[in-house]
Amino acid sequence: MAPERLEDPAFIEVLQQLTIPLIAVDEAHCISQWGHDFRPSYRYIQNVINELQNDPIVLALTATATTQVRQDICQLLNIPPTHKIMTTFARPNLAFKVLKSEDSDLFLKDYINKNKNEVGIIYAATRKNVEQIYKQLKQANFAVAKYHAGLDNNEREKYQEAFLHDKVNVIVATSAFGMGIDKSNVRYVIHYQMPKNMESYYQEAGRAGRDGLESECILFYRPQDVQVQRYLIEQSVHQDRLNRELEKLQAMIDYCHMENCLQTSILNYFGEGDIQPCGHCANCTDTREKSDVTTDTQKVLSCVIRMGQRFGKVMVAQVLTGSKNKKVTNFGFQDLQTYGALSHKTLKEMNLFIEFLVSEDYLTVEQGEFPTIKITKKGNLVLKGELQVFRKQQAKSTQIIGEQPLFEDLRQWRREVAKVENVPPFVIFSDQTLRDICLKMPKNLDELLTVKGIGEQKKVKYGIGLLKVIANHCDEETIPIKDELKLPSYLITLELYQKGKSVRDIALIRGLSPNTIEDHLIRCAEEELLSLKNHIPDKFKAMLQEAAKNYYEEGLSFMRKQLPEDISYFMIKAFLVENPLIGKNDNND
Ligand SMILES: [Zn+2]
Repeated sequence: MAPERLEDPAFIEVLQQLTIPLIAVDEAHCISQWGHDFRPSYRYIQNVINELQNDPIVLALTATATTQVRQDICQLLNIPPTHKIMTTFARPNLAFKVLKSEDSDLFLKDYINKNKNEVGIIYAATRKNVEQIYKQLKQANFAVAKYHAGLDNNEREKYQEAFLHDKVNVIVATSAFGMGIDKSNVRYVIHYQMPKNMESYYQEAGRAGRDGLESECILFYRPQDVQVQRYLIEQSVHQDRLNRELEKLQAMIDYCHMENCLQTSILNYFGEGDIQPCGHCANCTDTREKSDVTTDTQKVLSCVIRMGQRFGKVMVAQVLTGSKNKKVTNFGFQDLQTYGALSHKTLKEMNLFIEFLVSEDYLTVEQGEFPTIKITKKGNLVLKGELQVFRKQQAKSTQIIGEQPLFEDLRQWRREVAKVENVPPFVIFSDQTLRDICLKMPKNLDELLTVKGIGEQKKVKYGIGLLKVIANHCDEETIPIKDELKLPSYLITLELYQKGKSVRDIALIRGLSPNTIEDHLIRCAEEELLSLKNHIPDKFKAMLQEAAKNYYEEGLSFMRKQLPEDISYFMIKAFLVENPLIGKNDNND
């Protein structure tokens, strides 16, 4: 039942006549003012429980609760803190990524196109956004569905059904979509706009990869979306909760500018500490070098202090870049020592740098009618010269999958191989490995061993296939050189053949021609490692027997000429291996 019913005295009377053994409070975070979904009617629950004739067991359940919210739930429902069970929020198969890309529409089309066979959800902030994206994707001939509260029931149901039953792969939706839906094969969740808080984000992004397979959660960040969310919060939240909601929004913004592991940052937000970096989010796989930005940071911090810690990000950025904006001169900031101290940066770069300092906790944003930035304890240490600040080089800051053709080709190759081997793609290689390949561009099998996630076994099995994909992206002089495998190649083929792979499959996996694979199998048969009897159709046996009579005198090509086209060289060779005495006996007679 909805807790709102507890506001009805007649209903309470009915409840009081019953013996209720257990009360389960689902979405228990709604009881807390600190939660992202506070619903006042949840506050009636404990009162109602107190008035029941018996003393039922109370069970509170939630999947998104920060430390503070957990405390609140226990306190408000009289649950002893020692009766709390926490499982980890970690979802190791999700790869998180934030894109600060200008052209999100282009990226979106490109991404859906490259993941045509995968199922995905695209979340947008408003109904209008959903309609716009839906229209765009339709026009680009994608089969998509849409979902938002503005559609009538029939339409909503129609689109939802189409998505749930795999008639369309992609659905564009507001946050209204997804509650109570359990579709396990969602491979990606894209947030077209930043949501209003981490709780919503993790809940929505978490709809990817419920089957445990590798999936992606991509978030588009644009500064103007911060304004949209701020506006939506101000419109929908009561004054006394406003600052709390704005703090949550700030945490969301911090996430977007984070340079450390994104998964770790989410888990820290939910109160889990001491976590190892996930190894596959966009930040963990970001191989850019870090550079020392301590001096620039000191200039920013000292400017914030000189301005009295009473202004917002934009104003500070204007002063530092030496803007002649009227507001700056009205306050007399052109006379500050730090005025124009970082004038070599553009205003946009300056804004991003300040956002970076906020996300790394050197500065903090105090909410209010106008958000102002202030120095943190950590910031003070930098000012005193007791702490250095490092930032990843910004040259390649917009890493979009679509801009890495080799990565895409490697993924395509991996998909094909995975299909043939009937395993999930990440079992073949993780994205991290593919990215490392893009970075290191190995030219031969030995260099492949320097790539993260490639050991001797994978080198032997997939090495040549990988090098061929890489070769398509090399200048002519640097094309990978084929070199010798340490383990005999035909034995690797044998292993795959024994796993039930066809000649074509093995050729694809190993990046070799089907003829080569056939030769491997012949050699295996010669060494009696396998039998090729199944490869010789019964209907051809008599003809092969006849043609083989002169094999030892005339040779293979003569034998070939005597036989019809549909008997392949492979069948002939297989026949000869399987019947080694035929030609000889006839000859000896
Ligand atoms: Zn990570």
